[in-house]
Amino acid sequence: MELPVSAGTSADLRITAVELYTFDLPLRTPFHISIGTMSAADNVLVRIHTDSGLAGIGEACPFPAISGETQESTIVAARALREIVLGRNPLEIEALGSDFGDWIRKNPSATAAFDTALHDLLGKVAGLPLYRLLGGDRRAFLSAITVGLEGAEVMATRAAEFVREGYRRIKIKVGENAERDLERVRGIRMAVGEDVELQIDANQGWTTEEAITVLRRMQELRILFVEQPVKASDIHGLKAVKEASPIPVMADESAFNPEDAIRLAQAGACDSLNIKLMKAGSIGNMLRMTHIAKAAGLPCMVGCMLESRLGLTAAAHVVGARSIVRWADLDGHSSHILDPVLGGMTFDRGRIRLPESPGIGADVDPRFLGEMRLL
Ligand SMILES: [Mg+2]
Repeated sequence: MELPVSAGTSADLRITAVELYTFDLPLRTPFHISIGTMSAADNVLVRIHTDSGLAGIGEACPFPAISGETQESTIVAARALREIVLGRNPLEIEALGSDFGDWIRKNPSATAAFDTALHDLLGKVAGLPLYRLLGGDRRAFLSAITVGLEGAEVMATRAAEFVREGYRRIKIKVGENAERDLERVRGIRMAVGEDVELQIDANQGWTTEEAITVLRRMQELRILFVEQPVKASDIHGLKAVKEASPIPVMADESAFNPEDAIRLAQAGACDSLNIKLMKAGSIGNMLRMTHIAKAAGLPCMVGCMLESRLGLTAAAHVVGARSIVRWADLDGHSSHILDPVLGGMTFDRGRIRLPESPGIGADVDPRFLGEMRLL
């Protein structure tokens, strides 16, 4: 598919229309984590049109158990954001971001979709893929693939299948019960052998004491890091786990935005950060978090919710652009039944390759969008 390319477009653009769509992506099987279950990715799509003929696109992926956002709340926010951007110059991303005000903190998925569309337009006007525009040079990198929370045997079987398919790094969802979580991780290590990298994610499921005990017992299983062992708001607990755990601790739900990143860095509460577009609320905020992390000496991962390859590609450009991002976890689309995204990053058994077309470099099949609700 040919994506629109610009050459020497004037920087004096105006936003003439904003289309909002429901963007419903059914999952193969329900996705379980310790704090909730998702049976579908009920996302929202934003397309921003300009008087130049160029359009930008972005995706919102609300994940109720993590951010409290739903498709409905995201639509309400998106309608308000549409009123803010209409008639404005889409290249004035900084000013528009300021005018998004508190929507960014309270409805980060909605603002992320708009901000992605603005960056898509910026790249199209510049004639550069976003990661190049941001000064990056890393076009290809590895992602983890996630094994959702199930019984230990089911998880070990699934992990072994992934390894047979060619995946080299596996993320394991835990946090349901410390004793059973140990069985889960041990079972997976036995099933996949010694060469596969393992990382675990407790999604806030343990107390501080449980986390310290179980992570010490997991030491021999050679885990790269553990995401969010304790409650998002419990920075003291997170720090206590970090200080006692032989496995490095990554903040995820504790680290939505740049202000959180500063707080965590100042407290010395974690060893690394998981940055997500749907938490940060904008590509600008993701970049701010990488700058804070770099200054604080904290390596980062860029992760995801259940985005399609469109939202994943937007986040992947940040991985391509920033060397402090050491890991990627951008497999959200792999549990979808359909992939209606045209262009975008490729995902071959965890090996991600960014598109070289200008902007985000992804669009959605118009036949698929024809079946979605226009708002
Ligand atoms: Mg996580």
